[in-house]
Amino acid sequence: MAAKIMSTESSNDVAAILLRVVDYSEKDQIVTFFGAGCGKSTAFARAARGSTRRFAGGLVLFCMYELTLLPRRDGLPMLTQATALESLPRLSGTLEKIAVGSAVLELLRETTEEHDPNDRLLYLVWSALKTLEGLPAEALQQMRLTLRWLELQLLSEVGVGCSFALCVRCGAEGGEEPAFGVVSGGVLCARCQRPSDSLRPISSRTLRGLERLSTSPLAEVVARAGSRAGRDLGEGLKQFNDESGKVTREMILGHASGAMKAYEFLDSLIA
Ligand SMILES: [Zn+2]
Repeated sequence: MAAKIMSTESSNDVAAILLRVVDYSEKDQIVTFFGAGCGKSTAFARAARGSTRRFAGGLVLFCMYELTLLPRRDGLPMLTQATALESLPRLSGTLEKIAVGSAVLELLRETTEEHDPNDRLLYLVWSALKTLEGLPAEALQQMRLTLRWLELQLLSEVGVGCSFALCVRCGAEGGEEPAFGVVSGGVLCARCQRPSDSLRPISSRTLRGLERLSTSPLAEVVARAGSRAGRDLGEGLKQFNDESGKVTREMILGHASGAMKAYEFLDSLIA
């Protein structure tokens, strides 16, 4: 009732995934979420911990919720109810899936601005989480490939699209000894490389893989990697993930607002 008195408008319902849940007090929580029509936002969830009636027994990650939010004149909106629309329980089934799934949420949380709606991004992230859930427990490289695919889509969505096919300076093919220019966000041919470009070595093969990854639907990417040929190239896929990840990580860190701890945890699993 107290919440109603403080409200300035009526409540609204938002389809959203949770990005972070922080305990504020014994029962209250601060929830960061990414919602349809509102983007990244934060709300105060009073007495959310252990509330079976309003919060289905507790707020969890890897779940699509319908959140009922009550705007307030002062302070964060109040999250008054959360109804699970679709959950991904198998995503919490293995350490590898938790690690990659957490990196997905961290990626969305740290590279987007508050109150900047992007429903396509919400859809892409949810697609990636669903794909991760369905992968076999041992398919760590396919999980990493799913994360890499999402990184490329997200960079493009937030306006930092990378060019992998042609030299960003002269338009020529990358040719021999291409490098990735972190500053210019794309491949540079040997003739165009300058020290001020923050050059990173990258193989032509990885560049081709990144180009294909950035333009392919996720289902196709995962199916290709999971095919017999893909399994035979298992070591090649790991090399691709390792090399391409160094480049995308730098691009992401250039636009991240905080530390990428889930990524660091994933690194520790791969090492
Ligand atoms: Zn060039």
